[in-house]
Amino acid sequence: MAVSAEGLSELERAGYRFVGEHRHSAVKVCHWTRKSLLNRGVCYKEQFYGRDLGVQSHRCLQLTPSLPFCDHRCVYCWRNIEVTSPRWVGEVDEPTEILDGAVQAQRQLLSGFKGNPDADKQKWQEAQEPKHCAISLAGEPTLYPKINEFIEECGRRRMTSFLVTNGQHPEVLEHLVDPTQLYISVVASDPETYKAICQPIAPDGWERLNRSLELMSSFKCRKVIRLTLVKGLNLKDAPGYAKLIEKAAPDFVEAKSYMWVGYSRKRLSMGNMPLHREIKELAEELARETGYSIVDESESSRVVLLKKK
Ligand code: SF4
Repeated sequence: MAVSAEGLSELERAGYRFVGEHRHSAVKVCHWTRKSLLNRGVCYKEQFYGRDLGVQSHRCLQLTPSLPFCDHRCVYCWRNIEVTSPRWVGEVDEPTEILDGAVQAQRQLLSGFKGNPDADKQKWQEAQEPKHCAISLAGEPTLYPKINEFIEECGRRRMTSFLVTNGQHPEVLEHLVDPTQLYISVVASDPETYKAICQPIAPDGWERLNRSLELMSSFKCRKVIRLTLVKGLNLKDAPGYAKLIEKAAPDFVEAKSYMWVGYSRKRLSMGNMPLHREIKELAEELARETGYSIVDESESSRVVLLKKK
């Protein structure tokens, strides 16, 4: 299933670049990569994990190997959830082809900064060699049949890899090669709220998510649960989230505000975007419920970081 011609051009106008022969992969320069090249700030991942992992916004490759494929239809998603297929269809590109193509496309997308007097020349030079792979641009990466080989290829290229999954494929997680950091998205503390927010394709979506959370503790890599919080929907029930966090025993929890951007503006209102203060309040409750400590925060990204003691 390739993306329709209309869908392709719409995504390319939005800054996506498709890579690989079968065009199921794409790269898009992150807003924070651009800001960092202009020395106007870095993303919260560099702020939170840069010291330990060397993650740098200007050397980040924001990509996906499975753009047309996702088995959630999350109401808060900034992507067009009408065009994705819940199952992989079609040919599969090799990880080396995807990464080579993504690096080339990133260099082309950043070429304009070379002549920009406000751009940091050294950072621009370094950005020619991306060192971090944010496997979270769009789609569900565990649907990509060669996700293990992809993570290994990142390792061979000495790139850190952050894999963000919706937890719908515990059968893949059971055999998953450790990325640098594994994220499972948790957006509800109970099955009813989960169904309302994620509109899962699989009737046993909640059970699958819980199975993935159980598997999380078996990973040796760093593990993160990301809570994407939407006011009026799931910004509640710290005790319920605490049970899920206990089950997964992640190293970190990111309590993050939903952002009113992209296609989500057709489904939600600006009022559904929690203030940083409201995220902090829930994070403080979570800290009390879980015994985790609040160790960092980013007001501009409305996110609070909790760490296991
Ligand atoms: S890690 Fe995420 S937020 Fe930071 S630059 Fe990469 S894609 Fe953007």
